[in-house]
Amino acid sequence: MAARLDPRALTRELLAYNTINPPGMERACARHIGAILEEAGFGVAYHEFAEARTSLIARIGRGDGRAPICFTGHIDVVPLGGARWTRDAFAGESDGDRLYGRGSTDMKSGIAAFVVAAVELAADLARGPGLVIVVTAGEEIGCEGAKFLADRGLLDRAGAIVVAEPTANYPYVGHKGLAWFEVETTGVTAHGSMPEVGENAIVKMAQVIGDLGHYRFPVESHAVMGKPTLNVGTIHGGLNTNSVPDRATITLDTRTVPGIDHVHLCESLQALLAPRGAHVRRLVDTPALYTVPENEWIQQVFETCAPLLGERPTPKTITFSTDGADLKRGFGGPPAVILGPGEPKLAHQTDEWCSMARIDASVDLFRTLMGRWNAP
Ligand SMILES: [Zn+2]
Repeated sequence: MAARLDPRALTRELLAYNTINPPGMERACARHIGAILEEAGFGVAYHEFAEARTSLIARIGRGDGRAPICFTGHIDVVPLGGARWTRDAFAGESDGDRLYGRGSTDMKSGIAAFVVAAVELAADLARGPGLVIVVTAGEEIGCEGAKFLADRGLLDRAGAIVVAEPTANYPYVGHKGLAWFEVETTGVTAHGSMPEVGENAIVKMAQVIGDLGHYRFPVESHAVMGKPTLNVGTIHGGLNTNSVPDRATITLDTRTVPGIDHVHLCESLQALLAPRGAHVRRLVDTPALYTVPENEWIQQVFETCAPLLGERPTPKTITFSTDGADLKRGFGGPPAVILGPGEPKLAHQTDEWCSMARIDASVDLFRTLMGRWNAP
């Protein structure tokens, strides 16, 4: 058996790679993880959707019979933000139980936890259905790495997926879909003193926004996720006060529930707004992720987490979206759970940190889940 890897130390090693997206530049970080897994007996393949935008797929197991279990995470992180950090964002500083750094919570700690569990169990995994580890680049902007792997058919098979995003070690059965749109109205410009000879794009947009207030989603509610939502996030229009504006745009953030197809959603928004002459364009698209809580493996995950949480988990979904939906599509639709050591409320925050005790607990949870999947 290989010498024990320390999940806290590995988290620090991963934090030291600046993978702020944009531009991402995940190659060196991906290679570091790949080297550890290769040494433990995994077969590792790297896939770049653009120069140095590196995802990796690592496999171990018999490769016949039952499909392997998948653990996944992204190595890109969001920018540091406008506010000053009081800690070094890349040095892995700690204070008590807190390990600070950009990506400590979202989600290099989660990756470190499953890599350590995988290395420790490598011998057992090699004899069983096995494990596939998918580490993605480019998650924070449109799940680019995961979409690339799914679209190119590079994922092969998996019987279940654990997405190690920050959940404070509570298992969530999914999340809403996310679809962003841009809506544009156009008009005819004229001097501001003669509005009657122009066509005002901002006035049309005001009507568009009014219409959106009456929009009804094709699926109005979901048993666990609740209602889909629509928010007008930005508005732009007009160049100067004394002209009739000939162009206005808004962007929409919709959060969808299973059963709402985003192509159809775009078409139905276009149909609603067509009488105003508005044009709708899709910007970002991440499908919803959901597994029915009655699923046998989900119940096994709940059972595994119960002692640590001090209660049996109840079916809940998380507010943010993940790579999970695209990976699930690429793997042919296995059950998926979102479960990781990071603190959900600290994702993307200034002075982001992760509890080191939770990282250790996460290694135990992940080892148990990998072990049960590979039990003889
Ligand atoms: Zn994340």
